[in-house]
Amino acid sequence: MMAKRTKTTTADAVLAPAVPPALELLDVTAAYGRIEVLHGVTLAVQPGTVFALLGPNGAGKSTALKVASGRLVPTGGCLHVAGTHVNGAKPHRLARAGVCSIPEGRGIFPNLTVAENLRMMTFRGDLPADAVTEQAYERFPVLGERRTQLAGTLSGGEQQMLAMARALATDPSLLLLDEISMGLAPMIVGKLYELVGQLASEGISILVVEQFARTALAIADAAAIMVGGRIVRTGKPQDVTDDVSAAYLGAAS
Ligand code: ATP
Repeated sequence: MMAKRTKTTTADAVLAPAVPPALELLDVTAAYGRIEVLHGVTLAVQPGTVFALLGPNGAGKSTALKVASGRLVPTGGCLHVAGTHVNGAKPHRLARAGVCSIPEGRGIFPNLTVAENLRMMTFRGDLPADAVTEQAYERFPVLGERRTQLAGTLSGGEQQMLAMARALATDPSLLLLDEISMGLAPMIVGKLYELVGQLASEGISILVVEQFARTALAIADAAAIMVGGRIVRTGKPQDVTDDVSAAYLGAAS
């Protein structure tokens, strides 16, 4: 007998994503030595969207990014990248699959010039180095103006732009961003997040970790709050906003 099509199943069929999430953590646990710091984390970054993972100091946000980039093997649960189970895959394998992270501290080489920092990122080999640097200067004109300057002497905002330009040079499908606002003036942070939103509209999937939430939430498509190694809230940005301050005060559960 033919199954009755209810309103719900029709809506589900329409709303169901045609492609798997760019990144999925399913009940992931992770530890440093014997100390477990992620206690069953589940989240999904849909393709071409920004997911903001928020939470106070020591919540486990960076650890979740380490798991997602292959730098820390989960002790339990599943890690999927674009629908493929990748638990235990080495960072270089995930990088080849399009996963690119900008670590806290930006990961640039302070004693190399802007141009040298960019050229180092052309290892994936699809584009000639000159094309990669020219694309970076087009997106970030200030980097073009400062191409011969040592990266360590750039302003904080310029260094973050360089870090993003380096990441984009690898033509990533999934970007993992750790506290890009750190130490930067609110106006610069706003500009960087504008760019993050633009990258998502170009099809890049983005997981961004932040302690201070407002700017990230403004451009995010989905968000979660992590406290003590657990996701305590997840949903649309407007659904978690009210819980953000509670989380920082240790009241969310
Ligand atoms: P922050 O916003 O301060 O960077 P976070 O939410 O990113 O914090 P994590 O850096 O993931 O938190 O840290 C989660 C817990 O794991 C903390 O208790 C931290 O002390 C611990 N931790 C992080 N890195 C290590 C490590 N390499 N060895 C041992 N413990 C660690």
